[in-house]
Amino acid sequence: MILHRLLEKAKRKFNSQSIVLMYHRIADPAVDTWELSVSAANFEEQLQVLKKSGLVIPMSDLIEQIYLKKDLRQAIVLTFDDGYIDNYLCAKPLLEKYEMPATFFVSTQHIGKKKEFWWDELEKILMLSPNLPANLSISVRGVCYRYDLNGETILTDEIRVKHKNWNYHQAAPTHRTQIYLGIWKLLSPLSYSAQQEVLEVLKTSVGIEYPPREEFCSMSVEQLKELASVDLFTIGGHTVTHPSLANWSKEIQAQEITANKEYLRVLTGNNLNTFAYPSGSFNNATIEVLKQQGYLAAFTTHQQSVDKDIDPLTLGRFQVNNWNGKRFEQAIKKWL
Ligand SMILES: [Zn+2]
Repeated sequence: MILHRLLEKAKRKFNSQSIVLMYHRIADPAVDTWELSVSAANFEEQLQVLKKSGLVIPMSDLIEQIYLKKDLRQAIVLTFDDGYIDNYLCAKPLLEKYEMPATFFVSTQHIGKKKEFWWDELEKILMLSPNLPANLSISVRGVCYRYDLNGETILTDEIRVKHKNWNYHQAAPTHRTQIYLGIWKLLSPLSYSAQQEVLEVLKTSVGIEYPPREEFCSMSVEQLKELASVDLFTIGGHTVTHPSLANWSKEIQAQEITANKEYLRVLTGNNLNTFAYPSGSFNNATIEVLKQQGYLAAFTTHQQSVDKDIDPLTLGRFQVNNWNGKRFEQAIKKWL
């Protein structure tokens, strides 16, 4: 059955649902623990499915419908989180080719810098280093954690393949992935500087240079400006350093949200009105700050469609995985 017929059927059944899709990267990395990447080939197939559906609308239309409190028309909105360089290099030209509107939620700490996000750097050290010492030790909040590589100091082809095929839904297949997850959990609630300190300790222990991988960096200032200047696209807030906001005081949250918004306002010339919670983490204080900052809509990572009764500051989204067009079409059908 073609998508058109499926969507007609869904329309009759649910009448007024809109969904927001969440992308991060258009890339094909050697390891993708958090399923953040869709390959360029699969992304193009997904765009062809979306084009055929005729359902994709700009973020501004969705916000208007929410605030007018009328029955939402069935629609799909596209979003990208974090501000990775491939959003400019790979997503932008394909979105333009298919004339698809999209919103990019950008964390600004690394814009214009040759620097990877902490979770990517940790992945690189633990899952891609050809040689690791037999033991690794880190200290977090005064507690020392020691990890034993258990014979996986050398990255064999067998381990490499296991890493390539693994994601966080599955049990960790190697000691290296177990250690990665353990340290990820410790770092996730920490400040940016504390995360960087632990990464430095790990890099020093391994004793090799880790130059930043270009394709894992954020956009340059010029790239972000150019992206923002395209009529199809809008830029949204995503904090400065990508903290798990619910772990922090209202004051710290306000600093992160305000400085990010101001940086992007100056850079793009536009006042932002949409926001995405980093890692989906927020609490009441976050919502109060967003209201004070004039944000009209904010997005979580809860898999939930948008309907007219929903709070515009806790809108759900559906993460898109590295699926071909056919598999993507099935997912859309399920979500709608
Ligand atoms: Zn993010």
